[in-house]
Amino acid sequence: MTTRGDTPAITIIGSGFSGLGMAIKLKEAGFHDFVIVEKSSDVGGTWRENTYPGCACDVPSHLYSFSFHLNPHWSRMFSPQEEIWDYLRSCIDTYGLRPHLRFNTAVTALAYDDTAREWRISLASGETLTSKAVVTAAGALHIPKFPKIPGRERFQGTAFHSAQWDHTADLAERRVAVIGTGASAVQFIPRIAPQAASLTVFQRTPPWIHPKPDGDLPQRLFATVPGAARLFRNAIYWALESRGAGFAVDPRLMAPQERLARRHLARQVADPDLRAELTPDYTIGCKRILISNDFYPALQRDNVSLVTDPVAEIRERTIVDAAGREHEVDAIVYGTGFTVTGGLSVPHVTGRGGLRIQEAWKNGVEAYLGVTTSGFPNLFFLLGPNTGLGHNSVVFMIEAQVHYILECLRLLSKTKARGLDVLRSAQDDYNRRLRQRLDHAVWSAGGCRSWYLDRSGVNRSLWPGFSFEYWARTRTVKPSAYELIY
Ligand code: NAP
Repeated sequence: MTTRGDTPAITIIGSGFSGLGMAIKLKEAGFHDFVIVEKSSDVGGTWRENTYPGCACDVPSHLYSFSFHLNPHWSRMFSPQEEIWDYLRSCIDTYGLRPHLRFNTAVTALAYDDTAREWRISLASGETLTSKAVVTAAGALHIPKFPKIPGRERFQGTAFHSAQWDHTADLAERRVAVIGTGASAVQFIPRIAPQAASLTVFQRTPPWIHPKPDGDLPQRLFATVPGAARLFRNAIYWALESRGAGFAVDPRLMAPQERLARRHLARQVADPDLRAELTPDYTIGCKRILISNDFYPALQRDNVSLVTDPVAEIRERTIVDAAGREHEVDAIVYGTGFTVTGGLSVPHVTGRGGLRIQEAWKNGVEAYLGVTTSGFPNLFFLLGPNTGLGHNSVVFMIEAQVHYILECLRLLSKTKARGLDVLRSAQDDYNRRLRQRLDHAVWSAGGCRSWYLDRSGVNRSLWPGFSFEYWARTRTVKPSAYELIY
């Protein structure tokens, strides 16, 4: 039975970095009538869900955090998952968000009511909320992707995905296989390698890997010297941003980064055959550049072997590779990534005139500045289409978007309009220019295939420029790009 529930002016879906950042800034701007609905029982998003051994962010912590909530107590340059999760949980009480949070509340549908000019938000409980505006802050990478390998379901041993780590499974003294060598796998492989009786790593495409400049941080200094944490954060930002030229300007500018990765590989792997197997054949940056000091050493342990032939089949107790070799294993860990959602995790979304979002996006997931999409008034995306980054912190992008959404809400207050809907022409024009830049960028021209590209090979995930350029474009709202609905 459907019951009519609350009517918060704004509903935020998700309580990871995006949802919490939005909530904090809403309060600060004087918008107190909002709710954060969270499908799980705690905040944290990806930092709540990913608990695999070695899980840490590969962006330095002083930058991978809110600019308005600096934390002088990051223990390391790249702090572990528990610390990032704690940081996010600390925001609840610091910013008084508890009364706004509704846990264990999954959204099943969003429908725009043309007459009332508001959103109806259906919850799994059967309840319906109504809101003037909805902010989807669900993240793009949270649905674990399992590979379509024949026989996968026949496997009789332990098997799980890196994002659903089974902490009850004891991998010690077991024969373990890992499928995948992406950002997650390079973090957990060095942790499980010393415990396992044997570890077989199935690599489809080698990643480019840079050294990881990790280490303990001087917490006292950051806590006591005024401005030190801010200065450090800014220095990291500009150091990372300077790497953006190869992405934003010309892939040929990636050359120094490739030299660094080749030197790292040469320094860590002496065996020329293994080195050849670990050398990518695509331009660096085409896939996410990984950082690790312990992945190559882990692969050279006596109990670890690297298989570069594709996985052909999985049987009850073995994995068969394309060369016909059968590898006996007790456990399989899938480090095979995520199904990309474009920032929308709600299955049913209908906008003006009953327009289904799947219909609006039939040619691909698209938005204006990655935040608004035509036909869906007052529906705002955080980390929506083409707002991910290959070279800097996405928290920076989130903050720029939060600011932009606040500007949209202020425009609504000022004009007394009920809603704003981005014009199709403005969205098309924006995306046409975006495509022109993306076609020449390394993610499309670099000779690889990654989750950044959709089925048609179009990059729907990343921002093609410098992050400060995105920041500049999201400072103000152009009223001419929107239809105001009264
Ligand atoms: P991923 O980067 O998509 O890597 C998946 C891995 O699985 C790739 O090596 C892929 O090979 C392999 N794979 C997929 N299907 C396969 C198959 N059928 N047979 C063999 N190998 C297969 O996933 P992820 O490592 O979970 O990372 C996803 C994203 O999450 C990252 O790009 C990053 O944005 C984010 N992440 C960030 C951090 C961080 O520290 N900030 C850490 C972890 C994850 P191919 O390369 O050939 O496709």
